[in-house]
Amino acid sequence: MKTHHQILIAGGGNAGITAAAQLLRANKYLDVAIIEPSDKHFYMPAWTLVGGGVYRMKDTIHEEAEVIPKGAQWIKDYIVSFEPDQNQLTTKSGNVYSYEVLIVGAGIQMNWHSVKGLKEALGTNGVTSNYHKDYAPYTWECLKNLKDGDVVLFTAPSTPVRCGGAPQKIMYLFGDYCRRHNIKVHIEFTSGGSVIFGIKKYADELMKMVNKYGIQLSFKHDLIAVDGAAKMATYKVTDANGITTEVQKKFDIIHVVPPQSAPDYFSTSALADSKGWFDADKYTLQHLRYKNVFGLGDILNTPNAKTGAAIRKQTPVVVKNILSFLNGELPAAKYNGYGSCPLVVGYGKLILAEFGYDNKLMETFPFDQSKPSRLMYLLKRYVLPWLYWHKIVKGQM
Ligand SMILES: Cc1cc2nc3c(=O)[nH]c(=O)nc-3n(C[C@H](O)[C@H](O)[C@H](O)COP(=O)(O)OP(=O)(O)OC[C@H]3O[C@@H](n4cnc5c(N)ncnc54)[C@H](O)[C@@H]3O)c2cc1C
Repeated sequence: MKTHHQILIAGGGNAGITAAAQLLRANKYLDVAIIEPSDKHFYMPAWTLVGGGVYRMKDTIHEEAEVIPKGAQWIKDYIVSFEPDQNQLTTKSGNVYSYEVLIVGAGIQMNWHSVKGLKEALGTNGVTSNYHKDYAPYTWECLKNLKDGDVVLFTAPSTPVRCGGAPQKIMYLFGDYCRRHNIKVHIEFTSGGSVIFGIKKYADELMKMVNKYGIQLSFKHDLIAVDGAAKMATYKVTDANGITTEVQKKFDIIHVVPPQSAPDYFSTSALADSKGWFDADKYTLQHLRYKNVFGLGDILNTPNAKTGAAIRKQTPVVVKNILSFLNGELPAAKYNGYGSCPLVVGYGKLILAEFGYDNKLMETFPFDQSKPSRLMYLLKRYVLPWLYWHKIVKGQM
């Protein structure tokens, strides 16, 4: 068994697979191995649409073997620790793998357990989440069974999250569904944050949606417990003076976005910053202390939106910088913080937010992208999933 690789990739999700494919397209003689325990690969951006009943979960799942690029070795195992001082890592099966260059695409961890009662409650009594493949279809079950007078809560934690817009997108689909079917419900956005969106241009348009669907906004609300049988949610609410109180809210349906963190197997390593994330130079994506280690995707501590769209712009930077590193040169390619958030605001309507570091707008199209657009919805529904499976994971964009 080969235990040393020129380039070792930790995690074969969106980031890891895209990087492996682009590296091998750049030079097919590179020795690339990917450590990934799962035999399935997911296209998570469509889980919002699954929850809205307009996409099938099975179409978001492919075999991992289908996306491992030709020429890369797949090590099907769990990493349990990183030893960057020895240029090696250890897996659950007890093997030690060494590398010349390491790419960390370890993703993000859903901390379901940190909301009391949530794990037990999910999938029954109207407790659901699009952040889990098993429950996004249940969101649609809940939506279809809405009735007059129902109370529907949507949560967003105050931790960093994968796709910051996703906690709201499903809420707007609920709002639109109720309008179309003339169902009168109480919709409430209970968020640990303090604004609807960090960029005014998009926030102003989202507020129009909030008003159109009659959504109540409750900021600084962090969900701490769910009692499915009693249909009761408990929040820690922080007031303007930083004083916290506990507040309970009854619900008929609650869509929960769990608190999130860097995965435990990574956050305890020497590669992590003080909060557990990959400690990167925000432009080169090279590790700040271990120069032969690069980070990609949701695991990064860089201040960009944690999205697949960000990975699409990060990967060519990391690939260029690794090729430079292998040639003994300094990394010169720079990531500008680009991320995009396709904000579904109703059936057939989408605001395409695109921005980089310091919330600098980076819109692609020659029209005002903050306005709800059918064309942009079709892009999300049809074009982006096709591009993902046929171009992105093949390293062609
Ligand atoms: C509901 C929802 C909606 C979204 N909407 C959008 C959107 O509209 N647009 C957009 O661009 N993005 C969206 N995203 C975000 C996007 O899906 C993520 O940013 C992206 O998938 C992150 O990729 P990653 O490679 O960093 O992490 P992942 O794809 O999670 O990869 C991490 C990999 O590490 C593996 N792993 C786990 N444990 C170990 C271990 N011990 N050892 C080795 N490997 C391990 C995992 O199996 C996984 O394959 C959405 C996400 C969700 C959940």
